[in-house]
Amino acid sequence: MGEQHLSDVHLERYVNGIIYDAAELKWVESHLYECPDCADRMWSMQESEDGGSAETETPDLYRRDDPLQ
Ligand SMILES: [Zn+2]
Repeated sequence: MGEQHLSDVHLERYVNGIIYDAAELKWVESHLYECPDCADRMWSMQESEDGGSAETETPDLYRRDDPLQ
């Protein structure tokens, strides 16, 4: 208990809200509550889901080269 960290797959599914199993969800949440490391990974994953595209991609620049405009 507490020794095993969450996998990227678990965190990704949690961030995307696609963990449907109540026991699994509870396990992930309780681990995030107890483990700052995994909570940190979860937050950075959530940031990249929410606003990461604004930083890592440049859709506006790309659109300027769009021949359709
Ligand atoms: Zn952990």
